Amino acid sequence: MTSRTIIALALLAVVLGACAEPAPPTGVDGPVVVIGIDGAEWSIIEPLLEAGDLPNLSGLIERGAAGRLGSLDPRRKSPVIWTTIATGLDPDEHGVGGFVVEGESHGRDSYSHYSSNMWKAPAFWDILGNRGKTVGVIGWLVTWPPWPVNGYMVSQHVQYHDRFRRSEGGQRVSWPDGMDEVIAPYAIDELELTPEQMSRFASSGVDGLSVLTDHYEDALRRAFAGDMSTYAVAQSLFSDDVPDVACVYTRGVDEVCHRFWIHAYEETRPPVDPAKPGTAMLAGQVDELVGLIDEYYRYTDEEVGKLLELLPGNATVVVCSDHGFRGPGTWGEHAPWYGEEQHGLNGVLIVSGPAVKPGVTIEDASVFDVAPTILALTAAPVAEDMPGRVLSEIFTDEFAGANPIATIESHGRTERADAAPIESPVDDEVLERLRSLGYIE
Ligand SMILES: [Zn+2]
Repeated sequence: MTSRTIIALALLAVVLGACAEPAPPTGVDGPVVVIGIDGAEWSIIEPLLEAGDLPNLSGLIERGAAGRLGSLDPRRKSPVIWTTIATGLDPDEHGVGGFVVEGESHGRDSYSHYSSNMWKAPAFWDILGNRGKTVGVIGWLVTWPPWPVNGYMVSQHVQYHDRFRRSEGGQRVSWPDGMDEVIAPYAIDELELTPEQMSRFASSGVDGLSVLTDHYEDALRRAFAGDMSTYAVAQSLFSDDVPDVACVYTRGVDEVCHRFWIHAYEETRPPVDPAKPGTAMLAGQVDELVGLIDEYYRYTDEEVGKLLELLPGNATVVVCSDHGFRGPGTWGEHAPWYGEEQHGLNGVLIVSGPAVKPGVTIEDASVFDVAPTILALTAAPVAEDMPGRVLSEIFTDEFAGANPIATIESHGRTERADAAPIESPVDDEVLERLRSLGYIE
């Protein structure tokens, strides 16, 4: 045997050895970016896709897998569902029961709001942060006060940035220290919005806005300012660097559906009763509001597009909603639905990226499956106490082969002894907002 043959055999042994012991799973190469759109509903999206009005969502669907995402049943309020999406756990296990704490009413004008210290379990971004992934969370419900993560967290109160700054308690919208200053130029207070900025949502533009009563205009302002702030903050932070695990949540779609669906569709418009001046006034606004929801989806698609442009080519993008929407019901059949009664039981799920088979229709998925699937995509163990499943049917064979799903008994609980609601400087405004959406009487 020549020395050359010996070296060749030795090399062959190394190669065979490497084959016998597969490389440890590494998950996807690029970042995982979760875009949460509260209340996104397929029956609104589909005609807009067909009309070519949502090019960015359309591209994600074409390149990836998409389908219905089953919500919690019976219907629950959004904070409950988003915490299930983040933790993979049942509401009894994760601890967030709504916007305001039941039984904590202090009279009509005062309620205790759920605060982030009441989460009893880690979110997927905590689990992944502990495993060395960098994390950025922006706008997610019930993340105030923001908690330390392996990166940054901008709480859902981002649009009230200025009011926090001026408040006496020195409380912050975001974590870590200094982040409030970084996001300041991008957080837009609803009162700063100009008629020109809002004009796209009324049929006759700026003139149309003036027809709206304050009640309607304020609802639009709050929704739009919240989304503009959240997307602008995300775009600014991502243009610097996209964290390994990035989450952006917006609520405007759900809010405009709660407020304006009744005007946007023929069958749900309230009948005009000449004896009731209120119904005639409503009818006068309908012409201006009729296209608002569709336009809000177009706006949302534009913002999603600006985010996508900032992501590297190997990013995995997850677009999801906590529930769909069924509007206020049909007049005459029953009283209009309010609050979570308007939620549809099927939300939206779109997953696109190098590990995802293009063109797959996702079936039988639920809000419980998002966290396990994200853990599997990042090669982190999936907890056996999570009721959901990994949506492995969307993975490419190559990814599935290289990344067998690992499990762990549980990722634990974080129940704190001081899990009582923490007051924020904007609780009264948030309460008013919930009341206008029909969540609180
Ligand atoms: Zn809702």
